Amino acid sequence: MSNVVGIGMTSERTRMRMVTRLREQGIKDEVVLAAMQEVPRHIFLDEALAVRAYEDVSLPIRHNQTISQPFVVARMTELLRGGGALNKVLEIGTGCGYQTSILSRVAKEVYSVERIAPLLEIAKGHFRTLKLKNVKVKKADGSFGIPEIAPFDGIMVTCGATHIPEDLLRQLSVGGRMVIPVGTENQVLTLVERTETEYRKTELEAVKFVPLLGGVA
Ligand code: SAH
Repeated sequence: MSNVVGIGMTSERTRMRMVTRLREQGIKDEVVLAAMQEVPRHIFLDEALAVRAYEDVSLPIRHNQTISQPFVVARMTELLRGGGALNKVLEIGTGCGYQTSILSRVAKEVYSVERIAPLLEIAKGHFRTLKLKNVKVKKADGSFGIPEIAPFDGIMVTCGATHIPEDLLRQLSVGGRMVIPVGTENQVLTLVERTETEYRKTELEAVKFVPLLGGVA
């Protein structure tokens, strides 16, 4: 890929600055910070936007979707880990695959579901470029999860849901954690921890994601 070579020389240093900023913003999990340092964010963007890859902003990708801002990606990954190792993780909303690639560095296996077929093809190209071996994708409405692979010890939803889908709750293992933006226009980042007896919900900060939509496109 031409843009890997094109700004490859400076991107390592630029990423280091991004990681310094993430620390200043309160990200503490060294495993997450290492993943953010390693994954080249600029390859996920079209050439015209690649120079802005390490700014702390969300940016447009194709098909009217967005790549989340680095802080939000790091924050959600830190919350999902909760300081512990992750085995099997489900992500809803692959998009360009940036968050997926970060997850692939902090979990043993990652399953990611996307409803827009051409976006999934683009993401798969990125996974090949990065030689990720532990990521599997599925084209589907992610609200239903992947029952045949469940349970997951981590579920991350990267689109805004009006409510927490029942199927996803069911597919969370006991002791597992789900991170999901809940709400329509503006959402509240919500952490769900499944215990033997309950789903414990904690509402965190406000976030803004594109909406979770039904069906496939
Ligand atoms: N994880 C991405 C963010 C992608 S934006 C990143 O790293 O930046 C959110 C994605 O969720 C979009 O690609 C959108 O198509 C997808 N999406 C929305 N509703 C969905 C659904 N029901 N099932 C699967 N994917 C969905």
